Amino acid sequence: MPACETCGETITQPLCGACLGRQMAAWLQERVPERPELLLQLEDLTDDVLGDGEENCIKCRGPMRVCGRCYSEKVFSWVTRSLPFHAPEFETLFLGGVPEPVAFRPVRLLARA
Ligand SMILES: [Zn+2]
Ligand SMILES: [Zn+2]
Repeated sequence: MPACETCGETITQPLCGACLGRQMAAWLQERVPERPELLLQLEDLTDDVLGDGEENCIKCRGPMRVCGRCYSEKVFSWVTRSLPFHAPEFETLFLGGVPEPVAFRPVRLLARA
């Protein structure tokens, strides 16, 4: 089974950074239309996780190396720096919506430390 390059977990919900990033870009445009430079920064973050993967996105069929969760967390850490006011909403929308198995949590904590 293909594994995520960042957390090493099997990619079970293969939605790639390009597809997730489009939803995030739409959210950015709605929340901070006066800051178009953020869209370019998001694009850079997204480019980093695309290409050369063993797993294919269920939506666009593009290759992916990093799971949707790791990509979302990566973007989230950028949002907390660039848009701290909107970070809680981002977390709810893109990180809080998908319930994850309890066994997955300690692995993430270790990876972060
Ligand atoms: Zn991952
Ligand atoms: Zn995709």
